[in-house]
Amino acid sequence: MVFQALQQELAGRESAGLLRRRRLLESMQGAHIQVDGREVLSFCSNDYLGLAAHPALAVAIKQAADASGAGSGASHLITGHHQYHHALELALAEFVGLPRALLFSTGYMANIAVVTALMGRDDAVFADKLNHASLNDAVQLSRAAFKRYAHNDMAALEHLLATSAARRKLVAVDAVFSMDGDLAPVPQLLALCEKYDAWLLLDDAHGFGVLGRDGRGVLQHFAVHDPRIIYMATLGKAAGVSGAFVAGDATLVEYLVQSARTYVYTTAAPPLLAAGLLQSLKVMAEEGWRRERLQALIHALRAGIRAERWQLLESQTPIQPLIIGSNEEALSVSERLLERGILVPAIRPPTVPQNTARLRISLSAAHTLEDVTQLTEAINDLAR
Ligand SMILES: *Cc1c(COP(=O)(O)O)cnc(C)c1O
Repeated sequence: MVFQALQQELAGRESAGLLRRRRLLESMQGAHIQVDGREVLSFCSNDYLGLAAHPALAVAIKQAADASGAGSGASHLITGHHQYHHALELALAEFVGLPRALLFSTGYMANIAVVTALMGRDDAVFADKLNHASLNDAVQLSRAAFKRYAHNDMAALEHLLATSAARRKLVAVDAVFSMDGDLAPVPQLLALCEKYDAWLLLDDAHGFGVLGRDGRGVLQHFAVHDPRIIYMATLGKAAGVSGAFVAGDATLVEYLVQSARTYVYTTAAPPLLAAGLLQSLKVMAEEGWRRERLQALIHALRAGIRAERWQLLESQTPIQPLIIGSNEEALSVSERLLERGILVPAIRPPTVPQNTARLRISLSAAHTLEDVTQLTEAINDLAR
């Protein structure tokens, strides 16, 4: 029976200490959450601005439920493209300063859409080794040649581009790397894309809402504009709701509408989510203190950790990884923090390279300075 093989595999993972377990969340997302029957101070979410539990978003969604019902009932190309979706696409394009935006149900589907619609057998995708799994899967599905280069190594990328005979070239990167918190060198990437006539796909899942003076993301942060940029961001992280969008040149976006399979062959997300996201954009614009708070918390964390044996990676984003090294020690530090009521996940290989097991501390505007002090004091204490 097939189940036997599956059972064996699961048992193998369990004995290697790699079996994943889902915690049960019994409260809203936030700094102080109730999980598995206890209250903890959490540094685990991607809810960077603290909008997932914002009352104004919940109100907008409730009102939209009355006006538009529960579900969309159809794909966008049939009758599922509700006026809330449309208004959100216009607002998102304006927000990031690009000609046109297109909504997707998830970031995973948006990445698959872009890469599989644009790239095929005769083409090549150039990708950072630390890219998100959805970008990697998208390349496999596209059948394009998959050229990976060492993290942020522009010389290696240039060598790959210079020696490629592919019909079309696409450089695809996380704008903010999800396990390291550092940024892709976007101006240098763009210069290489211009030199070798390639597209640049920027996955700004962790930058949208966070980077740039107004939180408009990585394009605002670097003040870059170029028609060869294909911008993707998710709406379930800083934006606090769910979904994703791709933005860029109007012809490119129209091409995705016509041919991206994860756009055409799927039911449109409920319109009420789009209404919640319109409210989210409004809150992002009106409550600039959330980004200021986040910056203050990042600074406090980096100044507060005095553990010589464990180093924070160089990161200016809310993703602040503390490198522990061995898997066992990372797990044990995470467990001892939990004993003190603080939840920080230990991230181990294969998610990160060997001997770089880490605590992935993620900060949110929902945290207070006292929350961060509680964390840094606990870490300093455990390091002694
Ligand atoms: C979370 C994430 C995605 C996937 O987005 P979802 O909307 O959660 O499917 C894609 N890329 C990166 C870099 C991410 O962190």
